[in-house]
Amino acid sequence: MAALPPFVDTRIDALDEIYDRLQATLDTNKTLDIAYRNYNLKQLYFLLTDNEERIQASLKADLDKAGFDANVGDIWPVINQIALAIKRLPQWMKPESASKDASTMFKLMRPRVVKQPKGVSLIISAWNYPWQLALGPLVGAIAAGCPAVIKMSEHSPASAALMEELIPRYLDPEAYAVVNGGVAQTTILLQKQWGHIMYTGSGMVGKIVASAAAKTLTPTTLELGGKSPVIVAPDADVKIGARRILSMKSLNLGQVCVAPDYILVAKERVDDFVKAIVETMDEFFPRGSERSFVKDGAYACIRNERDYERIVSLVDDQDAKGQLVYRAEADEKRRRIGINVVHLPKDGAGEQGLLVTDEIFGPILPIMAVDVCSVEAAIKYVNARPHPLALYVLSKNRSYFDKVIHETLSGSAIWNDVAFTPVATTLPFGGVGDSGWGNYHGVHGFNTFSHHKAILEVPYWLELAQKSRYPPNLDASARK
Ligand code: NAD
Repeated sequence: MAALPPFVDTRIDALDEIYDRLQATLDTNKTLDIAYRNYNLKQLYFLLTDNEERIQASLKADLDKAGFDANVGDIWPVINQIALAIKRLPQWMKPESASKDASTMFKLMRPRVVKQPKGVSLIISAWNYPWQLALGPLVGAIAAGCPAVIKMSEHSPASAALMEELIPRYLDPEAYAVVNGGVAQTTILLQKQWGHIMYTGSGMVGKIVASAAAKTLTPTTLELGGKSPVIVAPDADVKIGARRILSMKSLNLGQVCVAPDYILVAKERVDDFVKAIVETMDEFFPRGSERSFVKDGAYACIRNERDYERIVSLVDDQDAKGQLVYRAEADEKRRRIGINVVHLPKDGAGEQGLLVTDEIFGPILPIMAVDVCSVEAAIKYVNARPHPLALYVLSKNRSYFDKVIHETLSGSAIWNDVAFTPVATTLPFGGVGDSGWGNYHGVHGFNTFSHHKAILEVPYWLELAQKSRYPPNLDASARK
């Protein structure tokens, strides 16, 4: 296996040249051709399959991710997106007739919608799934015919450097480019006019991106985070619920935008639920064994020391308050921590700590008893907070779930499971309000990077039906 390349910041004075090159490519109209788009989508597929081992190595270097976590989180979801795009591209690109509900007059004008590339686009991605969060949007951009710059996160340098090596080797270098670096590079890129900007990351930087884009009136998609709750109804199967929650919370050590952030449990089930979670932790990750969380090579590590310290101090704080019900193993040297379980006071009393106000983005699971026997109480709790990226409901009762999803606003929702929506290839993936705006994946990614142009044809023979529009036939009373 070839060694991984070193991470090097893209020179600031190279950014204009990159932008101009991609703009010139757009002007040639070659990206309009379906064969060109298909070729680059296929090449992207080969980029992933030919280099699977090196991509895994880059994820190991960045986040200590092992093969399983790397494949499930970074490689397979993109391959599925590519396969869907290649299969459906002819259909997505086809003009859509808008005749069906048009009046007779407009029917005669053959109303239709034509999809065009919005233009050279900017994809700013985050470190936690560096390959998926850069290439997932790129699939939409290529499918829509947009040249694109990928700005990788400086917090996943091995992935960023490998991406910079591979993209020009596999895709048309005149149309697709990688920029590496941090705030300095991104700030310059954001001053340019783009066809579309897709940003993934924190809400704080999302506001910087949106403000910069407003100055050039560039449309944006913001894929942000937030606190995604799990509501556990009185009738929930807590054993299955605990298994499903912990299997997904373990992925990437909870550093996942749709990871379950906190659990609201019906008061009368909270002890059962805590017991199920603790038993499942012991079953999945028996302490001291090869499968223990810190020894198991299947999971990632915390991205850096600062985040490791942040998680440990949250756990210590909960311990001091007597609210920690499961203290997980930790390995400071490898920055690996198991899932710590916190039982918060009833009805969120004393809930002003960071654990309740901020996105956790790590392996801590706070469980809070609320009066969710009344589904209204759960809905009220969620609606009093920013709209989550995802919302999960555990209940045997389908109508409980239906009521929650109809009366709350979240990017996505799942009945009896968690965190799956980003890999459900055909669903739109995105948030609402504080968790972001816009979406992508499948046809939604294609649409995000496409302009939908309204087309009418008005043949000369329609003059017969146009008499009333010409003066002096206007109603005399209207002229007064
Ligand atoms: P990050 O630190 O990698 O930052 C994201 C991008 O923003 C990077 O490319 C970075 O270079 C750039 N950036 C940082 N500061 C900037 C500035 N001042 N100006 C311009 N650009 C700047 O990622 P992060 O923000 O730590 O990511 C974690 C957050 O992202 C969490 O809130 C998580 O929930 C969210 N997230 C959302 C999704 C999603 O798809 N909705 C996916 C992953 C992560």
